[in-house]
Formats: sequence, C-alpha cells, structure tokens
Amino acid sequence: MADVKKLFEPIKVGRLELKNRVIMAAMVTNFANREGYVTDRLIDYHVNIAKGGCALNVTESSHVSLEGKRIIDGLGAYDDKLIPGYKRLTDAVHGVGGKISLQIFHGGRECSSEITGLQPIGPTDLVSRYRAITKKIEIPREMTLEEIEAMVSKFGDAGRRAREGGFDTVEIHGAHGYLITQFLSGYSNKRTDRYGGDVIGRSTFLREIIRDVKKKAGADFPVLVKLNIHDYVEGGITPDEAKVVAKFAAEEGADAIIASVGLHESRPYMMIPPMSIPDFVNIHLSALIKEDVNIPVATIGRIIEPVRAAKVIEEGKADLVALGRGLLSDPQWPQKAQEGRFDEIRECIGCNQGCIDTLHKMKPFTCLQNPEIGREREFKIVKAEKPKRIAIIGGGPAGLEAARVAALRGHQVTIYEKEKELSGQIRVGRVPPHRDELGKVTDYLICQVKKLGVTTELGKKVTPAMIDRLNVDAIVLATGASPLIPKIKGIRRKNVVYATDVLSGNTTIGNRVVVVGAGLVGLETADYLLEKGKEVIILEMLDTMAADTGNANRIYFEDRFTEKGVEVLLNAKATEIDEEGVVYLHQGWTKKILKVDTVILATGAVSNDSLWNAIKAKKKGKIFTIGDCVKARNAMEAIYEGSKIAREL
Ligand code: SF4
Repeated sequence: MADVKKLFEPIKVGRLELKNRVIMAAMVTNFANREGYVTDRLIDYHVNIAKGGCALNVTESSHVSLEGKRIIDGLGAYDDKLIPGYKRLTDAVHGVGGKISLQIFHGGRECSSEITGLQPIGPTDLVSRYRAITKKIEIPREMTLEEIEAMVSKFGDAGRRAREGGFDTVEIHGAHGYLITQFLSGYSNKRTDRYGGDVIGRSTFLREIIRDVKKKAGADFPVLVKLNIHDYVEGGITPDEAKVVAKFAAEEGADAIIASVGLHESRPYMMIPPMSIPDFVNIHLSALIKEDVNIPVATIGRIIEPVRAAKVIEEGKADLVALGRGLLSDPQWPQKAQEGRFDEIRECIGCNQGCIDTLHKMKPFTCLQNPEIGREREFKIVKAEKPKRIAIIGGGPAGLEAARVAALRGHQVTIYEKEKELSGQIRVGRVPPHRDELGKVTDYLICQVKKLGVTTELGKKVTPAMIDRLNVDAIVLATGASPLIPKIKGIRRKNVVYATDVLSGNTTIGNRVVVVGAGLVGLETADYLLEKGKEVIILEMLDTMAADTGNANRIYFEDRFTEKGVEVLLNAKATEIDEEGVVYLHQGWTKKILKVDTVILATGAVSNDSLWNAIKAKKKGKIFTIGDCVKARNAMEAIYEGSKIAREL
C-alpha cells in the first residue's frame, strides 16, 4: 500500500490538536436560511463530512454584517441570535468526533443589493470586473474611517460568537476578492489614508481584525487566516506582498494560514480551479509562505490524490491540505485514503457544475459526482426489504449510478448497453483538451459496479421484443440522447457532421471548419479541432458563448480562442449550407462564410425515447426512465436521477 502516513499525523493549530492533516476548505452551500440561521440540512452535511475523517470542518463564509452577505441563503455571523444554531451544529459535529471552524467574512464590493437590499461597500468606489461581467454593475460606496473601525469590531464580535457557539476555531476569510482582500490588494484599494498605500498600509484592516477577534474571542482561541498568495490580476496581490501580509497575520496572533489564490475575475480562473488547471496547483505558494512564518500553512486547490497529498506534507511544502470540492465528491476521502482504499475514492473532476454554477443560479449547491451532498437524509442508502431483479437499459452515467446504488441496496442488477463499452456520452466528452477528468465519472462507476457484482451485457441493443422476454421485477431506461438536427437548408450535405462523431474519431474533417453552436459541446469540439491544427470559425445564435456553462469554462474558452485567433460570431444564425460555405443571419444581414470544408453541428440533443414509447403502456408500474432519455440535459442531472430512482426501487 502506498504510503500516506504523513497525512495522518496529528498537528497543533494554536492550542487545538487536529487528528490529521486533512482539513475542509470553506465552501458556500446555500443551506442556511434567508436570515442566515443554521438548518438541519447544514448540520447533516457537516456531520457527514466529519464522519468521513477530516480533521477540521470549516463552515461557509458567514457574513459579519447584513450588507456583506453574498448568497441568498448564506450562513450569518452578524448577530448573537445565531449562536443557538451554532451550538446545534458544533454539538452535532463534535458528537461524531469532528472539529469545526466558523469562517467569517464580508463580501464588500462583490455583494449585490439584489440580495442585501443595500448598496455594496468597499475600500474604494471601484466596481469589480466580475460584477461588470455579470451585468449587475453597482458602484460600491467607499467606506469612511468610522465605518472601517466599526467593521473591524463586527469581525471581532463574529469571532466571539464563534467561541460562544462552540466552534473550535474561527477562520478569517481574507482571500478571493472579498472585503478583506479588497483592502489588501492594490488592485481594489486606492486609499491614501492609513488603510491604503503600500502593502503595509493595506494590511492594516486585516491586522486590526485579527487583533479584535483575539481580544473578543480570547487570545487562546485559534484563529485561521485565509489569504490570497496571488490575485492573478494585474496590480493585484503578488506572492512577495502575500509573504509580508502572512508575517503580519502571524505577528498579530494568527494560528494558521490557508494559502489560497484568485479572484472571480482572475485569468486563468484560479479561485476554484476547473479541470483545465493542473491538480495541486498552489503548493509552490504554500511553500513560499512557510519560509516566513512559524505557524501551520495549508495548501488548497485541486487536492486530488492522497498519496500526492501525503508527499506535499512530507516534503514540507505545506502542513495541512485543505479539500473543498474533494470532500463534496467524496466525504469519505480521508477515511478511504487512510485505509488505502484509493480506487474507492470518487474524485472531484473540477467541473464546477454542481458546486459553483448551481450556486450562481441561487440554488443550494450539489455535486455532479455525488448527489448525496445536501441530501444526506433522503439519500441514505437503505437495504431493500426484498431484493429484486433489475434491468437497466443504457450504461452511461445515469444507468451506471442507478446500478451502483441498486446493487448497494442488495438488488440483482444487469446493465444492457448497445455499445461495446460502458460510459455513454462521457466516452466522447473526455476527448477534447483538458477534459479527460470527465472520464473519472464513469471510471469510478464502472469500477464500483464491477465490485458490486452487477452483470453487464455489452453490444446489446434492447428491443421491445427483448423487453418482453426479460424476467425482471423492474426496468430502468437510461437510453440517453442523440444529436438534434436543426432546420437548416442543406443540413444533409455530406460535409455536415455531428460534434459527437468528430470527437469519436468516426469521421474525416477538412482543414477549414465551421462549428454551429457555442454551447459547451461546440466549444469543446472547436478546442479539439484547434489542437488538430484546423482553422475554426464558430457560429452562435445567442449573444454569448458558453451560455450553458459557468464562469470558469467561459474564461477558459475566451482565453483559448483569443490566443488561437478563433473567430466566434455571436447573434449569428446559420440558415443554409451549400457547396461554397455557410450562410448566416446576423443582425438582419445575410452573410456567408466561404471555402468551408466541414460543418460541425453542436446544436443540442434530443431524447432517445423510442423504446420507452414502445413499451410504456404494456409495462406500466414496472418501468422507469432517467437521464437524457427523459429530457436531454447533462451528466449531473443524469447521475442525480439514477441515484434517486435506485433508492425508490
Ligand atoms: Fe467537483 Fe464537479 Fe462535484 Fe464540484 S460538482 S465538487 S467540481 S465534481
């Protein structure tokens, strides 16, 4: 067994002894209520993670005052009325042997009056570029000296509440472009008083906050400080500046530094690094900070493999590893790692789909890989009273997840797949550059269903007649979707192909290509073709590309296509394909792209529901549909539905 011992050595953070080196990175959940109170859902989520063996849970960023709230149902830290809820949460986590920290924060200029009803505030009246991108521009009000002093005190009060609420530590969120970073960073702080100027002046706000928290929560109450070691924007915090700030934090009594990076508008998108960013991306930065402070330093950002994480500790590049998304996709990561059950870890793939994009739609977060997150009670796996024989038609993510959960419940499961291998659309989805991580979704599921004794029948296209012959108690249809054929004149021409065919390698592509559709599939296909040296033009009928995906993907593709000189034509509706090229309508004008060798369609998908339509009446009550065959969507919905149906069988 590979050596992960170093990861499981205890460590002291101030007076607090942690049982191992794996701590949780704070993540916004949207599981509190509108007033910021702790809910049962939030408690269940933390208890589940604590049970999985991590040494220290950390709550989401909890606002110290009402105008500092960023997320509609974000946890609060602004009033003593929240303390009884904290007690329920901390008692529950302690009850399963865990420890927990309250992260306190203020969103500053990244807040929105849509959520708070109040004008955002900041060190300077500068709008963040991120808010400008989201088209919700609000000029923040520059804080007066009195307001800054009052804000310091609010952080101190929140620290006291953490202690009174039974938390083991408090974490001051000084990273990611929120109020404290806004003061620390020359990118957002243009003040000329004692809170601005050089890095010394810009650190004053943080120093006073740490001092006030220590004063009100007690000098012995452990304080973690999360800092940006690099803002990844011009004029922002650099590692040299961060070293100065970290030293100041330690001098003021901070007991650990969480070494993070990035703002919402950083390029590349580093704050919550997507799958295009390498794993363990920030260890060089935690190592830099360790040179200057004598308190534990945590690294954060795509911590994936336990063996590598243990090596980071062993090599002295960090004292702790902070997992955020890694604990969502598998709350048992620490326990499985310690027991050497590496192949059982359901790894985070960096898709940001469930945990970030969902939040930005103001919904409670989830995880593409693990739909149990936030549904710990309703999704508890319970053994079936009477094991059943279950046929699952379709071996993509929905079918595989349904098979995994049904088998865990004790059912006897067979998957029928028309292709010669399992995986469904993931097989082609993992092909474009920087998308290989997507393959881990089905790699994990295939490994698990094999272990659980699920039978697989590959290369078998199931017909209605075959369904009649199946001697089973339930049939789950997970037959997926096929590419949508849009109404474009000339669509049947020989040089018109689907994106899925391109990615499968099933077709020949000319040198100059037009991709119709700038959703995620179209962009990934374009990226794949660029790598093959093709000249690519993209047509999109909407006014934006990447409309079906989040900020991280959008930034990635914008940067890639700018670098490679790809023409992305927005508000451009393809109307005809002929021997010369592609005709499109752009703001009322008809235009044409000439000398096109191949046209690639990435215009959506339609459900493969013919089997369902053929048998639904006959098999009523015994047959269920999940995933794209209900409605073409994405892997997150497919896995959720597979997971859910298997609990109901
Ligand atoms: Fe990771 Fe994607 Fe799950 Fe987020 S949704 S935790 S990025 S696998």
